[in-house]
Amino acid sequence: MRTATERRELLKGVYEQARNCVRCPLHQTRTTVVFGSGHADAELMFVGEAPGANEDRMGLPFVGQAGKLLDKLLGEIGMTRQDVFVVNTIKCRPPDNRDPHPNEIESCQPYLRQQIELVEPAVICTLGNFSTKLLRGETIGISRLHGREEVREIGSRTVRLYPLYHPAAALYTPSTLEALRRDFHRIPELLALGAPEQPQGLEPIPELEEPVPEFEPPGPDGGPERAAGEPERAAQLGLF
Ligand code: URA
Repeated sequence: MRTATERRELLKGVYEQARNCVRCPLHQTRTTVVFGSGHADAELMFVGEAPGANEDRMGLPFVGQAGKLLDKLLGEIGMTRQDVFVVNTIKCRPPDNRDPHPNEIESCQPYLRQQIELVEPAVICTLGNFSTKLLRGETIGISRLHGREEVREIGSRTVRLYPLYHPAAALYTPSTLEALRRDFHRIPELLALGAPEQPQGLEPIPELEEPVPEFEPPGPDGGPERAAGEPERAAQLGLF
């Protein structure tokens, strides 16, 4: 069992690796690596999809309209962002907000797995299809799964996995917002159950190896899409 201080230090180590990541081509177009933010000892973790334009600029997850809705729903259950840990399935913005590609999700998985391993949440809310499919390892979509909690092993942890609609999907569709709010209001009930019994003797997932460049630097014709003169910004770790 790690102490809170050890957990924080290890999380900072993963963050240091992620901020220099070149595992997939998104490193060529990102402004920042959006590692995640929140309370390192949170019982509740949210896993979104990918940073959008605002997140890419600020280096923090869910800071745009979808984030405002997330904050509002958290407020309705008496919580704030400082009580939870918020991450994304992939840490860099896909150009034009396109869907993440399978190779990007695959490359980025080790960071998410380490975050779950280190924060040790009791409840993980997956927001939308990408995180739900990844963490369940199945292709069933969010419209069938939302609001149905289940106990799942993720790495060496057993968690209560609770798929929810993505807040962005609820922004313009009242029936989706209604379902998201209904599901969201059950979170305190799940938290009150505490963490499920943990499996004995499962090996923690190995620590990350040093980042290895996998992609050739862009050639004269294939330069990065980042605006000319715009340097890559430092990622932020909003750790409470
Ligand atoms: N949507 C996400 O999935 N993540 C963010 O950080 C912002 C919007």
